[in-house]
Amino acid sequence: MTEVRVRFPPSPTGYLHIGGARTALLNWLWARKNGGKLILRIEDTDAERSTQESIEGIIDGMNWLGLDWDEGPYFQTEFSDDHNRAAKQLLETGHAYKCFCTKEELDRKRESAMAAKQDVRYDGTCRHLSAEAIAEKEAQGIPHVIRFKVPKVSGKVAYDDKVLGTIERSYEDIEDFVIVRSNGKPLYLLCNVVDDIRDRISHIIRGQDHMSNTTRQVLLYKALDAQVPVFAHMPLTLDLQKRKISKRSHGEIVAVQFYREKGFIPWALCNFLALLGWNPGTEQEIFSREELIEAFTLERIGKVNSVFNYQKGNAKFFTDPKLISINEQYLRSMDIEQLAELVKKDFIEQGIWDEVYDTEKREWFLNTLDLIRDRFHTIRDFATLGRAYFADDYQVEAKPLKKNILKHPDLKKWLPLLAQQFSSLDDFNKESTEAESRALAEKLEIKPGIIINGMRTALTGQLAGPGMFDILMAIGKERVIQRLSNIDHLYNENE
Ligand code: GLU
Repeated sequence: MTEVRVRFPPSPTGYLHIGGARTALLNWLWARKNGGKLILRIEDTDAERSTQESIEGIIDGMNWLGLDWDEGPYFQTEFSDDHNRAAKQLLETGHAYKCFCTKEELDRKRESAMAAKQDVRYDGTCRHLSAEAIAEKEAQGIPHVIRFKVPKVSGKVAYDDKVLGTIERSYEDIEDFVIVRSNGKPLYLLCNVVDDIRDRISHIIRGQDHMSNTTRQVLLYKALDAQVPVFAHMPLTLDLQKRKISKRSHGEIVAVQFYREKGFIPWALCNFLALLGWNPGTEQEIFSREELIEAFTLERIGKVNSVFNYQKGNAKFFTDPKLISINEQYLRSMDIEQLAELVKKDFIEQGIWDEVYDTEKREWFLNTLDLIRDRFHTIRDFATLGRAYFADDYQVEAKPLKKNILKHPDLKKWLPLLAQQFSSLDDFNKESTEAESRALAEKLEIKPGIIINGMRTALTGQLAGPGMFDILMAIGKERVIQRLSNIDHLYNENE
């Protein structure tokens, strides 16, 4: 088998979005599965729409997702000599011809063909111009495009799509398409093929939206005497209303960067993207990198469009519930050291990282992450919902503040009292703190829940969380005492 060489060739005209990332991922999987190569090629020929910012965004996004490439980034604009040479070759070998028809003429013909309900495709006027006629027009300075000469044969041009089976189109249905503009610039359709031939691409895995080009591109491969690569066209990703997802209609929710900022786990997003249009044939939903590489096949790419079921209006997230669920499953079950790496990056960004979490407080740090991760949805939650474990400037959420603190004004006295009891404990452990808390409730003749819930909210700012006495151990004696003794401010600021 020839070497597997795949490519991810984004046009750098916007950020890396969900659909682009899925294309990159599936190509990456195929390369890794086959010990092949992934080539990153930036298709920047559209100078007006390509931006440096977009190039950087794509590269950053790929890096963040952990999708490494083996060659490139190559830039399409650097290979214009190859594109021009190929156009020349097609002319010389009789696979293309110069067309001097003006836009006005073409428009006029099209309009009258439309009115007469006739074929509107190019009629081939310049297909058989003699060498003299061409020379004469050129001498007069009449501009020309170059058109591909589609063979005038009956029958069909066909290719074998790994997902969709044999795709064919009658030669008669394909017009002599333009490959070089009148300004001398080769069209994307040609550049793309020339680059894939030069880069020795063996498999082209791309969206079905490119299928309208593929048969014409197959003709180009053949005319250029190159081997036609294997094609695998993926379904499109649509929203619930069956619209193609795009920045214009959906905003940031379709950008990879959005998920990075929200604290999603890069591989969880990849896992989700893989299932968006690819089906393992089993119920398995969570795949490690190795498992996914192993399980992935082109044949199991879906034929029908997939739905990115983003949900607008959910209080915390505006995205596909399946993505949230996969992210949570990773968060809860992933190796704690790996989780710590991700949290560290976020803490550094949030300004709450402390070097001791890497040294003398490593064990505490890992245990605390493990203790609190069960209720969290994203990496960002450690710095927000879990902030009280790591910093003193945490927020007390409105609901528990009202319910567990403000509703019981006497906690103003009781919690400092409990703090005093705790400070006199020789051994500040789960059992001793629980016994003290219950003894106080008994003495005051109140339900222990009042003390315990008040304490939870005062210490963590949250309504719910891990077991109360685990929390005390994680926060530590000194901070517990300090926070319980200074409960006043919660009343002063909120009454
Ligand atoms: N540059 C094209 C795009 O971003 C990719 C075309 C292809 O995969 O052949 O849509």
